[in-house]
Amino acid sequence: MEDGGRHASREILPAFAEPLHVGRPNIGNTETFLRLAGAMLERRWLTNNGPLLQELERRLAAFLGVKHCIAMCNGTIALEIAIRALGLSGEVIVPSYTFVATAHALFWQGITPVFADIDADTHNLDPAAVRRMITPRTTGIIGVHLWGRAAPTAELRQIAEEHGLKLIFDAAHAFGASHGNQMIGSFGDAEVFSFHATKFFNTFEGGAVTTNNDDLAEAMRLIRNFGFSGFDNVIHPGTNGKMTEICAAMGLVNLDAIEEMMAANRRNYMAYKAAFAGVPGLTLLPYDEATHCNFQYVVLEIGPEASLGRDEIVVALHEQNVLARKYFWPGCHRLAPYRDLFPHAGLMLPNTEVIADRVIVLPTGTAVPPDVCTQIANLIIVISKNRRNGEAA
Ligand SMILES: *Cc1c(COP(=O)(O)O)cnc(C)c1O
Repeated sequence: MEDGGRHASREILPAFAEPLHVGRPNIGNTETFLRLAGAMLERRWLTNNGPLLQELERRLAAFLGVKHCIAMCNGTIALEIAIRALGLSGEVIVPSYTFVATAHALFWQGITPVFADIDADTHNLDPAAVRRMITPRTTGIIGVHLWGRAAPTAELRQIAEEHGLKLIFDAAHAFGASHGNQMIGSFGDAEVFSFHATKFFNTFEGGAVTTNNDDLAEAMRLIRNFGFSGFDNVIHPGTNGKMTEICAAMGLVNLDAIEEMMAANRRNYMAYKAAFAGVPGLTLLPYDEATHCNFQYVVLEIGPEASLGRDEIVVALHEQNVLARKYFWPGCHRLAPYRDLFPHAGLMLPNTEVIADRVIVLPTGTAVPPDVCTQIANLIIVISKNRRNGEAA
């Protein structure tokens, strides 16, 4: 009651009864899933290259227009296995503005992630910044299709070819997205997907590596299964990267529903886009709507013209049960162990530092109807207007 202004603003803001999360799972047909699960239990074939896994890999490869799809237990292990199978060592160039698993997958194998800056407009790796970070120890580049928008594939390929580097794309955000007419999944030497529950397409936990390279595919299948070739013969120091049958069943039903999920995300994105149109300082990151997009990330950039800072907006939204997120703040280079190993990395990452301080990711997905997206957008606009009025008074 002391804080009159704050109390007044609470009363007029439309708090949501249920918390609205970013990344609530998209789930296909429950009955089909239960039927597949029942048949799987009858077969007593729960994992190890089962029939559901084989069908999922076949269908994913066809959907993505790529020769090989090797499903894995999660996206992080999939990244580690792709990195290992491609023989990366020394230093590998990655963006800092990504989920920390991109860097950790290298670090776990004794490889140094070298952070390159992003383009402030696209939030994807800046090819010129990648060139600046190449040293004699560099063996590869991992581009990330951040927010499901394609990384600069042609420019990165050019750099990789010039310097004899391997090129991987972390496509954890980009399932179902395309780059021009080509689906994400067949760029670079290999592409890596995450099928985690929060991702556009999920298998509870899961992931996959896709590639058109036969030898690489075979190597990754070996590594995924401890290096076993036949019953008693181990020919490689592998790990356990296998996807279970129940996860593959989830993948099959979700793949059936992929067009509906994409359409739901598109409707939500359009609702946000209409609401934020022309509001100063609140910029929705655009998608290339002429290509295939999954619209999974609704990314709002809070510009310097906005009357309220990004962090204040996030706090105010959480008070109203809108659990918006500050992805990927503060950047990998400011997280352990990288902040101690490379305390001055930020000097080479000016765009990363600016963008990481500006971004809010808003709720969407099949669990959120478009009118709720409009309400969330209006709430954000009201929050900033309240402050503007408050400051003027
Ligand atoms: C989610 C994610 C990963 C890790 O995938 P998991 O399946 O959660 O292990 C890697 N990179 C990016 C960019 C991600 O968003």
